[in-house]
Amino acid sequence: MTLQQTVNQLKDSFSNGINRTYQSRKKHLTTLRTLVVDHEKELCDAIKADFGKPYFEAYATEILTVINEIDVHLKHLSKWMTPENAGNTITTFPAKSMIYKQPYGTVLILGAWNYPVHLTLMPLIGALSAGNTVVLKPSELAVTTSALLSKLFHQYFKQELVTVVEGGAKISQELLNQPFDKIFFTGSTRVGKIVMKAAAEQLIPVTLELGGKSPAIISEDANISVSAKRIWWGKVMNAGQTCVAPDFVAIPESLKKSFITESKKVLSDFFKNDYQIGENYTSIINVDHFDRLSNLINQSKVLLGGLKNRDTLFIEPTLIESDWDEPIMEEEIFGPLLPVVVYQKTEELIHKLNSKSRPLALYIFSDDQQFQDQIIQNVPFGGGCINETITHLSNHHLPFGGVGNSGMGSYHGLYSFETFSRKQSVLKKGFWPDPEFRYPPYEESKLSWLKRLFE
Ligand code: NAD
Repeated sequence: MTLQQTVNQLKDSFSNGINRTYQSRKKHLTTLRTLVVDHEKELCDAIKADFGKPYFEAYATEILTVINEIDVHLKHLSKWMTPENAGNTITTFPAKSMIYKQPYGTVLILGAWNYPVHLTLMPLIGALSAGNTVVLKPSELAVTTSALLSKLFHQYFKQELVTVVEGGAKISQELLNQPFDKIFFTGSTRVGKIVMKAAAEQLIPVTLELGGKSPAIISEDANISVSAKRIWWGKVMNAGQTCVAPDFVAIPESLKKSFITESKKVLSDFFKNDYQIGENYTSIINVDHFDRLSNLINQSKVLLGGLKNRDTLFIEPTLIESDWDEPIMEEEIFGPLLPVVVYQKTEELIHKLNSKSRPLALYIFSDDQQFQDQIIQNVPFGGGCINETITHLSNHHLPFGGVGNSGMGSYHGLYSFETFSRKQSVLKKGFWPDPEFRYPPYEESKLSWLKRLFE
C-alpha cells in the first residue's frame, strides 16, 4: 500500500466513526494498555538493544509513564469529551451555546529516538483519546524499538485505526506531503522547521516538541549538596540524551569549588566509578553523536570525568569549566557533559540567559523566593522546577511543551486531549421567539433602540 493509500484508508475509517464514541476510544486505550503491559520486558529489551538503556530507567521513564498516562485518560475521558455549556450574551439570548471537542481527523505523529516508546506512545494516547486515526512514525535511530512497535501494532490494532510507518528522513518527508489533519512532531529544532514549513503548505496545524539548552541555576543560598545530586540525576539519566536534561549549570563564582567537590562525591556515590552500559548507564546513540560529543570534550577544560570509548559508545559524565561564549554553550549538548559557567549578579544572569534561545526547561536551585520570582518572571522557558530537575514532566496536571526555538503547543493529561481536539462552537436557538427587530428594514427607531441598549 502506498503512503497515500494508507492515509486515505485512515481518513475513510475516521469518517466511518472507527474511534468516534466514548466506548470505542476507551476500548482502544485499553488495548494500548494491554499491549504495553504484556510486552513491557520486550520493549525494555528493544530499547536496551538500541542504546543500552538500563531496565530500571526504561521501565520508569518509558513504560510506567505511558501506563499512568493511559490511566489518566481512561479516568477522565468521559468528562473531557462532554460538550461544554458556554455562556450567552445579550445579543444571542435566548439560545444555548455549546463547545464540542472534536477530533482533527487523521493525525501524523513523528517520534524521536531518545525515549523511543514514551515519545511515540504518549502523543498516541492523546490522539486516540481525542478520537483521531493515526499514522505513527517512530525514529529510525532506535531501530529495534521501531521494528517491535510496528510488529505489536499489527497484532493489537486495526491498520485502519493506527498504522505504524517505519523509516527515516525520506519517509518522513513523504509523510509530510500527505493531507493530514494535524501533525505532532518530537525532535530537533532543525527538523521542526522542516516539519512546520511542510505543514504550512497545506495549512496543517502542528505541535512541535523540540529541544534546547536548559539551564540549571544555582543561587547563593542553595544547598549545594542536594543541588548537585539532583542536577547530576537529571544529567546522567539516559546519558544526558534527554530533551529536558539540565544542559549547563550557572553558579556564583564563590560556590563553584564546592559544586565541583559535591559533583565528584555524587558521581562516585551513583556509580562507584564503575559504569556498565545496559546495567547502570546508557551509551550514546551512534558514532555521529559520539564524535560530536567527543569533539566538545576535546575543545573544553575538563574538571571531572572525560573518559570515552568509541567502540562501546561510552562517554563518562563529564564536568566542564566554561565561559558563556564557548562552543559548548552554543548548541544543545544532548549528552553527559555538564559545563559550569559563573555569574555575578542576578540581572547579569537574566541578561545572559535571555541572549540565548528559549529553553525547553529551566531549573532554579534556591530557597530565596525573590530570586525564584525574578528568574520566572524575566526568563521565558517551556517549563521547569525549583530545587528539582526533569520531574515536572511526570505530573500530568502540568502542560509539557516549549517556547520559541524549543517548540510550540503542549501535551500530557488533559492537555494531550486538547492538543488533539479542536473546539467547535455551536449556538442553538428554538424557532420561537423570533422578534422582528433584527430583520430589515432597518428603521431609524431600531438603530436608536440598539444604541440605547449598549450604552
Ligand atoms: P530529529 O529531529 O533528528 O528526528 C526526529 C524525527 O524527525 C524522526 O522521526 C526522524 O525520522 C524525522 N526526521 C529526521 N530528519 C528529517 C527530515 N530531514 N525531514 C523530515 N523528518 C525528519 O531528532 P532526534 O535526534 O530523534 O531527537 C533529538 C532531538 O529531539 C533533541 O533536540 C531533543 O532535545 C529533541 N527532543 C525533544 C523532546 C520534547 O519532548 N520536547 C523529546 C525528545 C527529544
